[in-house]
Amino acid sequence: MKAFEKNIRKVEPYVPGEQPQRRVIKLNTNENPYPPAPGVRKALQQMDTDRMRLYPDPEAGVLVNALAEYYGVEKDQVFVGVGSDDVLSMCFLTFFNSDRPILFPDITYSFYKVWADLYRIPYECQRLDENFRIVKEDYYKENGGVIFPNPNAPTAIYEDLAFVEDIISHNQDVIVIVDEAYIDFAGKSALELIRKYENLIVVQTFSKARSMAGMRIGYAIGNPALIRHLNDVKYSFNSYTMNQTSLVCGAEAVRDKAYFEEIVQKIVDTREWAKTQFAELGFNCLDSQANFIFVTHPEYDARELFEELKKADIYVRFWGSERIEQYLRVTIGTREEMEALFKFLDGYLKRKGE
Ligand SMILES: *Cc1c(COP(=O)(O)O)cnc(C)c1O
Repeated sequence: MKAFEKNIRKVEPYVPGEQPQRRVIKLNTNENPYPPAPGVRKALQQMDTDRMRLYPDPEAGVLVNALAEYYGVEKDQVFVGVGSDDVLSMCFLTFFNSDRPILFPDITYSFYKVWADLYRIPYECQRLDENFRIVKEDYYKENGGVIFPNPNAPTAIYEDLAFVEDIISHNQDVIVIVDEAYIDFAGKSALELIRKYENLIVVQTFSKARSMAGMRIGYAIGNPALIRHLNDVKYSFNSYTMNQTSLVCGAEAVRDKAYFEEIVQKIVDTREWAKTQFAELGFNCLDSQANFIFVTHPEYDARELFEELKKADIYVRFWGSERIEQYLRVTIGTREEMEALFKFLDGYLKRKGE
């Protein structure tokens, strides 16, 4: 090892799902199969490219205002960033600064561990129960902060608001972050608790329900003091995280509530139908309330299935890590994409069963 290497910050990075640069049935990264709101296309066509010589609005006003209006909160309660990954990363840096460990589930969004390592934040994973549910009592001990997704990923299990509030109310001396990347496919958001708990931050994204993963837009909503601290960290890092095009397109997408509700409902309908199809083929599905389903088959190996699907140009997500070695995570695509998936699975299981 060269002497200079010992001072290099080394991290084990997060590994995102594959993004094949050709057309496949892509059910591996929880993207939305439908295009963004029609207003986004129009905004993009009318974009004044001369403006690109100028820096964007560092306050991201147009997007912050649209979100504040949509959620009925004040502008100083909204923070935006380059996808919720950027927002969550800023939250870790800003709010998790204790010697006590932060708490999150053992099976969850694997980026949490990466940020904790990167920022040298001590953490302690809390084991999901045998049904892959969060055990809320595990979060009632002393800690340096709490974060969990609701619905959780990759399980897709949603816990109701009373459950979420229980965790928050037992942790009023630390910051609690609820990562609601999939909330629009599920039930009530913890947003209605932000007035009651000034230590609560709710993070959401445009990548899933709003069909804009490629634009990289995420946001956090919380009480103004917390948002101020987040902005202070952001301005100490990069004043212009959001580009002008994303700001304008994001604001357009937020304004079209009817389109948003229509595509979310389509995905929910396809998901409920997909659950019955998986069950018919003998798969066990966790009760998904998101835009993906976590499935396992008692007789067929998940890794092999994952590889066979890939050969057929059907991409799903597989980790092969502890406790979830036999699980696949399948994003809900269009009805046609899902039909192609089930046709392949039906053929595959028949061939293997012979
Ligand atoms: C997809 C996802 C995110 C991040 O999404 P962005 O594209 O960065 O907004 C955050 N948390 C969870 C649980 C996710 O599944």
